[in-house]
Amino acid sequence: MMVGFPDPPDPLDEAFPLGDGSADGAAWASCPYCGELCEIVLDPGGGSRQEYVEDCPVCCRPWRVEVTWAGGAASVSLATEDE
Ligand SMILES: [Zn+2]
Repeated sequence: MMVGFPDPPDPLDEAFPLGDGSADGAAWASCPYCGELCEIVLDPGGGSRQEYVEDCPVCCRPWRVEVTWAGGAASVSLATEDE
């Protein structure tokens, strides 16, 4: 499942410029456990492909988060840890 929506412009998000300075600071994705749509805060300075574990703020179960960047647009994929 791939979900990636750019956020509305937010001056606070401009603290993390990537290349041309137009990178997304956050994306929305559905939790693979509870299905809740959650905002994923991104770090565009952390590399063009990132993988890490983060807990769902709704059901507290661990996501395996995979982020890939195409230009300034982030694609976020959430998977269960044992997938
Ligand atoms: Zn959840």
